[in-house]
Amino acid sequence: MFRTNTCGELRLSDAGKQVTLAGWVQRTRKMGGMTFVDLRDRYGITQLVFNEEINADLCEKANKLGREFVIQVIGTVSERESKNKNLPTGEIEIIASELNILNTSLTPPFTIEDNTDGGDDIRMKYRYLDLRRATVRQNIELRHRMTMEVRRYLDSKGFLEIETPMLIGSTPEGARDFVVPSRMNPGQFYALPQSPQTLKQLLMVAGMDRYFQIVKCFRDEDLRADRQPEFTQIDCEMSFVDQEDVISTFEGMAKHLFKELRGVELTEAFPRVPWSEAMRLYGSDKPDTRFGMQFVELMDVLKGTGEFSVFNDATYIGGICAEGCASYTRKQLDQLTDFVKRSQIGAKGLVYARVQEDGSVKSSVDKFYSQEVLQNLKEAMQAKPGDLILIMSGDDAMKTRKQLCELRLEMGNRLGLRDKNKFSLLWVVDFPMFEWSEEEGRLMAMHHPFTHPKDEDIPLLDTHPEQVRADAYDMVCNGVEVGGGSIRIFDPELQDKMFQILGFTKEKAQEQFGFLMNAFKYGAPPHGGLAYGLDRWVSLFAGLDTIRDCIAFPKNNSGRDVMLDAPSCIDQKQLDELNLQIAKIEE
Ligand code: ASP
Repeated sequence: MFRTNTCGELRLSDAGKQVTLAGWVQRTRKMGGMTFVDLRDRYGITQLVFNEEINADLCEKANKLGREFVIQVIGTVSERESKNKNLPTGEIEIIASELNILNTSLTPPFTIEDNTDGGDDIRMKYRYLDLRRATVRQNIELRHRMTMEVRRYLDSKGFLEIETPMLIGSTPEGARDFVVPSRMNPGQFYALPQSPQTLKQLLMVAGMDRYFQIVKCFRDEDLRADRQPEFTQIDCEMSFVDQEDVISTFEGMAKHLFKELRGVELTEAFPRVPWSEAMRLYGSDKPDTRFGMQFVELMDVLKGTGEFSVFNDATYIGGICAEGCASYTRKQLDQLTDFVKRSQIGAKGLVYARVQEDGSVKSSVDKFYSQEVLQNLKEAMQAKPGDLILIMSGDDAMKTRKQLCELRLEMGNRLGLRDKNKFSLLWVVDFPMFEWSEEEGRLMAMHHPFTHPKDEDIPLLDTHPEQVRADAYDMVCNGVEVGGGSIRIFDPELQDKMFQILGFTKEKAQEQFGFLMNAFKYGAPPHGGLAYGLDRWVSLFAGLDTIRDCIAFPKNNSGRDVMLDAPSCIDQKQLDELNLQIAKIEE
């Protein structure tokens, strides 16, 4: 047997056993005539001991071991004199009697320990070494357990796991496609799926009834923080369902995952918050509801009730109440003002009001408002003595709410209200069907073009499309959109109309989606579904700040794989075969 045990397995009860272990040398320490080696594998670390007095040759061999050498050791399990409580194997060590060096190693460019000295770039370049670190490995293990639990849950509910192709045509999910040139069809390109959206709908037409797939999706977006050009979705679709059926099936899945992977029993139904409420109370369609601090609209209280022209000209004034923060110093308040003025947030300023111990209100706009107005403000905000009221205003309500949302999250951070071990889940429902795109100068589907409008809003499609709400839903956890989906259109005429509103000519719609429209003519069942972001779920469960850390080989923030050095140029022969010519490369 190559090894009898792993490096994470042996305990005091194994003392006296002869064992064979194999793994990587994490560290060697020489103390007097003894050499200690920490041997590591996926399962843990076990201490090996080489005693000069018992076997000088063997000990000398051990002294030459370098970091990350791969070795095999035979020895006897023995009780340790000085036990290490931090290691599961910390009560024992192996008194070595044989040592085989299976492979040597260059000195690794960073320490392969939980707290490594390696920066991000170097760790990504040598990701295979980074993955040897327990903290990274554990994320990969969690990811595995999660996909196993997803499969178990969905299988128990009758879902079939079905693969869909990677080389397809365009699927509109609102991003650019990654394209792949076809050698056999000169001048033609496949697109990599942004999601298997149309294919899973075709599976419903095919009568598959309940489908899922743990699937790679590709979106060529400008990389915002924590986006990967390729990411994994738990993609699902169901037939003969309404929104309620989909929501309850996948709320069940979320509860299953929390129970199995975090030991957390979520017994209550997740709240359902209409999109318009989420925007009104939190300025976000993915509110972090681990804490309150909901927005209060202050137009009635502050517009036209004083001489402050900024508020008098505003179309939206909103405030949040930070409990117990009246003691914030001038410097802290200046920091908050700088925070909202940062280019990513883009607010012009911030007004604050402190509620004093005697109940009076002192604000940065005192000279414009009477104490009576400030008392009305206090009341509207339900602020108590010791609280700090923070107010923002603007001429675009949506924009200002988004800015106030950033401030709310910042205050949540400062006040320690965003505890990674606390989970607050909800569904955001009733999304608008469309949103106006300045860039395109037309309405765009907020979710995607196959989303069913709310039945009662269908008449508005012809008159006020911007007011139409959709049967679309997102699951949100701790301010992160962890999944989203919708009930789909299955009537070819309604789908036609949708394409029309979205600015497709009949020909263009036929060209791009003819296959789907055609399929709908052969008895499409009512259907709907959703997709969960696997990477986000894992990072949420693992308490990670970025999804990168739960992906074995992630790309960096510029979409590069620095280990493989991809993307890269291809040689002329390959270009010729593909009938491609590089026209220009912008520096
Ligand atoms: N295809 C959608 C997405 O990737 C999810 C869905 O509607 O099922 O966001």
